[in-house]
Formats: sequence, structure tokens, C-alpha cells
Amino acid sequence: MSSSGLTPCLYLDELSNNLSRCEVRRMRFIDAGDVRLALHEQGDPARPTVLLVHGYPDTHRVWDEVAELLTPGFHVVRYDVRGAGRSSAPRETGAYRLDRLVGDLAAVLDAIGEQTVHLVGHDWGSIQGWEAVRRLPGRFASFTSMGGPGLHQWARFMKDAAPRDVAGQALRSWYMAAFQAPGLPELAWHAVVPRVLGRAMRLEGVRPREGHPATTLVRDGTNGVNLYRANMFASRDEVPEPYVDVPLQLIEAANDPFVSPRLLASLRRWVPRMWHRKIAAGHWAQRTHPEVVARMIGEFVRHIEDGTPPSRELARAGGTRGVYDRRLVVVTGAGSGIGRATARAFAAHGAEVVCADLDLDAARRTAEEIGRRDGVAHARRVDVSRADEMELFAQAVRDEHGTPDIVVNNAGIAVTGSFLDHELSDWRRTIDVNLWGVVHGCRLFARQMVERGEGGHIVNIASLAAFMPSRLLPAYSTSKAAVKMLSDCLRAELAGKGIGVTVVCPGFVSTAIASNATYRGGHRALSEWVLLRRGYPPERVAAHILRAVHHDTAVVPVNAEGKIGYALSRLSPGLLRGFARLTDANMGRLPAKR
Ligand code: NAD
Repeated sequence: MSSSGLTPCLYLDELSNNLSRCEVRRMRFIDAGDVRLALHEQGDPARPTVLLVHGYPDTHRVWDEVAELLTPGFHVVRYDVRGAGRSSAPRETGAYRLDRLVGDLAAVLDAIGEQTVHLVGHDWGSIQGWEAVRRLPGRFASFTSMGGPGLHQWARFMKDAAPRDVAGQALRSWYMAAFQAPGLPELAWHAVVPRVLGRAMRLEGVRPREGHPATTLVRDGTNGVNLYRANMFASRDEVPEPYVDVPLQLIEAANDPFVSPRLLASLRRWVPRMWHRKIAAGHWAQRTHPEVVARMIGEFVRHIEDGTPPSRELARAGGTRGVYDRRLVVVTGAGSGIGRATARAFAAHGAEVVCADLDLDAARRTAEEIGRRDGVAHARRVDVSRADEMELFAQAVRDEHGTPDIVVNNAGIAVTGSFLDHELSDWRRTIDVNLWGVVHGCRLFARQMVERGEGGHIVNIASLAAFMPSRLLPAYSTSKAAVKMLSDCLRAELAGKGIGVTVVCPGFVSTAIASNATYRGGHRALSEWVLLRRGYPPERVAAHILRAVHHDTAVVPVNAEGKIGYALSRLSPGLLRGFARLTDANMGRLPAKR
């Protein structure tokens, strides 16, 4: 086999009459100093080159589906890194140092005769990518990193981050220490690792297919242990400020067990031009979600290559002013109180907000106020209780602004009075708005988020009333308890899709809800007075909501009575039932002895 000339090795079974010559896969071996690398090319060499580098313990075949999807538009290049697949495997540990891996990458670039390429790395392919873009300036037009930070940036995170974040990442990296033990990992690879790995892949939804896992898996696995031994705890050249000068797309797999979100978020510090995207997948996203991964790579490469306008998702991922910058947020009931404060808070953090409300003028006022503060907001009228209106609303949001990243199902109403004083219509209206409104919002927007495959977050506003029974708010409390349970169920269902669900349970908040409520049996003045005197501003609830989305918190009780009520509901529900009997429907009068 020639080492430098083109020796095509056609995959004849994949050739069909309608394949042009450019779509034929070409394979050859190239020399890269001490190793011979198996290099694969497909697609038209005249098109922009995308170089896909695999991780450990994979081979170039892990990219098969993505490479196929990219081929019509790009010249796609892959190779087996040293120690893997059909490339040669040096014996000594030092041969797996990052500088050697970067040398291999440079040899590949020289062999294909490209001055600059778009680099895509997964796992160790990504780790070496971070090093390559630093060491080989001018050779990469862009870099897409999946599942592997640069080692310098990783070291800085472990040094500078909060102890909890460091511990979180260390726990995910336990195997790195285990790989340092002499002989043991090799033994494990021949005994249990392939079975354990197979199970982990199946759990993620990776179906084994020809080429992945490779028939050389055990050999690749044992060779690749040297990647950890040569690089993880070895002394590296000091790089005080490991900045990356290349446009970088970071694809964060929401369920990747090996890399913590905190570590990935910290990378922005080193990359002035970074697009941070999420994919609702596990470690091998390119196997389970090849269409999404190929779309992300294609969009990014085209945008960088010739200035093709970015998709809405890509444009949003390029925000630099924090986690909510350019994110699309939908807030219902945004015309007043907690909804208005939440819309303003997200906008203040750079988000684009769709302010929805039954009262269009109120929604417009919120949007205009955001606009006056240089934010981006749109007002829309919708009755959340109406399935037909919500369908049209969700469709319009997707058509005009894209799939939302965050949806806050906040709109709500209250009816106060005893159960026997409630009209049937009170129940219907309360359940329709407070529960069905949330169901519609979750159904329609969760579906959009799942289809997009880039994760998201849903916040449902319940109340202290969700877990604190009361004789004054039977319909309201029932609707809020249902919202709480709906949120818990949905959180379990959507976790695997990278979509977080939070339920927020405030105590008394000083908004217009008491003035807007329906009263069965009086107490309007008293209710309004209590909420006003409580003096808890909706802005503080909004701050809790932003924090909860950031930390993906499941349940957020807000303010003193919210927190005490939540704690008591878990410690002593009987006590809360006792309290409920004391809150007479005529407020203030003690209940008659029963
Ligand atoms: P608010 O009355 O100030 O605001 C509610 C907004 O929802 C209003 O702008 C209203 O026009 C809108 N709305 C009502 N029905 C709607 C519908 N069918 N479709 C679309 N929009 C509709 O009330 P708030 O205090 O800001 O309440 C917001 C949420 O917080 C509600 O779900 C409420 O139950 C909950 N909450 C409030 C408190 C509190 O003490 N204020 C406490 C716990 C929970």
C-alpha cells in the first residue's frame, strides 16, 4: 500500500449507479512519523473539508452516519487515530502524548493537501482538537468540540472552580485514575469492559452495527489506555492562558456521564468566539442522533466558511452575555405580576422573550417596557385554557421565532371561598386556566423541544397551595397540586431528552392576583390587604425562576411560608391538615367544634 499516493479502496457494496465519483469513499494509509494511519475520504474534494476525529475506544467508523449525511455538501475526512482500528499502535506510553497526536493530525492535513479544514472532535478526538487548534495556528477554520474539553482548560477548571463543581467532575472522571494502575486496565479490557461498555451504549440507545463497536475494540481499548497514562497526570508544558483563537462550536450532550455541564460552561472563558449548543443525547450523540449532529456541524461550517446566515438556534448559541443570552423564552401571563417580572428578568439577561397574556394590552406593555431597556420582546394574545388557541400560538412562536429554549407556564387565576360556595363554573374556569393551561403549554412546547433535539426547560408555576390544604381555596389548591404532580411526572419523562422541568411554589406574593380573583363569600378587601402587606415582590420570584432553570432544580418553594409549608408537607402532613381546619371560610372566625 502506498504511503502517500492515492490508493482508492472502494466500498463496492455501497456503490450504486446514482453515486457520482465524488461520493465514492477513498481509503489509504499515510505515514506520520512513527505510525501509519488509515485515512478515509469521501465527498467532493472541491467542497469545504470537514475532518472528523474519533474518541476512545472508537475508530473512524463511529462517524459513519454523520459522514454520510455530510457528504453531499462537504469533503469529509476521517482517520483511525494511533492505536485504533487499522492504524498502527506504538507500544510505549510516551508515543500517545498529545504532541504526537497533534503531529498525526498535521500529517493528515498534509496528506489531503488542505491548508485549512473544519475540525470536529469527539471525546479524545475533541481533547486533541483543543490542543491542535492551539498548536497549529492557521490550519483550522473552525472547531466543533463534543464530549472532551482541552486538557489545559480542564486543569484550570479543576484548579479554579468551586470545590463542589470540582468534586462533581472528579466523580465523573474516576476511571482516569483507575487507568493509571499498571496492567489492571488491560486485564479488565480482556475480562469485563467490553460487556460493561456494551451495556452502557445500549442504555444510551446506541445500537451495535457493523463497524461500531469495532472488531478491534479490545485491542483499541488496551492501546488507548496509554492516552490517559501519557497525558492526564503527566506534566504538560505550562500554558498560563489557554485561549483558543478559532471559532468554536461546543456541542454539549445533556446526558454525557463523563463531562459535567459546569466544566463545559467554564470553557467560554477561553474562547472569544464560541457557540454553545446542547443536544438531548448521551456520550455517543453522533450514533444516536446523527441527523442533529450533522445538522449542527453543517450549519456551523457553512456559517463560518461563507457567512451563510446562521439558523436561529446557531445564532442563539453564539450569545456571549451569559447563559440566557439570545435564548428564546415564552412566558404566559406576562402582562402582570410574576409573569411580567419573569419576562423582564430573562430579557435583562439577554433573552428574547415572547410575552403572552389573555390581556393583549398588558402583554404589549411588558414587551414595550423590555424594548425601552434595549431588550427584545414580542407580545401575543392567547387564552391558555383554550386548546385551539394554544395550538395556533405554539405554531406561531415556532414559525416566527423558532423553538423556545425555555417556557414558563405562569398564567393563573384564583377563586376564593368555601367548597360549598364554589359554583361549578368556578371549578371549570380554575381547572381550565391553572391546570389545562399548563398541560397545553407543556404538551405543545415539549413536543417542539423534543423534535428540535437540543433540550430546553419548562417552568410551571404552582403555589404553596399545591401542598398546603385550605378551606378557602379548594379549586385553586386542587389545580396547583395537579400542576405539581404533572411537573414531577414530566420531569421524569423528559430528563432523557435534555429537557428540565421545574415547578415553582411561591407563598404570598404581592401582585394583582387578589384583585383579579373571584370571591365566593366576600374577603376581597382582606385578601388584597394581606398580599399587599406581605410585601414580597414578584421580582424575587423571577430571580428564583432564573436560578432554578440554570441549576435545573425540580421543586422551588419560594419565600418563608412557601419553604415552611413545603417542609411541613413532607415532615408532618397531618399538621397541615390541622391548620387547614383553622382557616375558616369566613376568615378570622374560629371553626365550630367538630
Ligand atoms: P396576576 O393576576 O398578577 O397575573 C396573572 C396574569 O395571567 C394576568 O396578566 C392575566 O391577564 C393572565 N391570565 C389570566 N388568565 C389567563 C389566560 N386564560 N390566558 C392567558 N393569560 C391569563 O397574578 P400573579 O400573582 O402574577 O400569578 C401568576 C402565577 O403565580 C399564577 O399561576 C398564580 O397562581 C401563581 N401564584 C401567585 C401567588 C401570589 O401570591 N401572587 C402565589 C403563588 C402562586
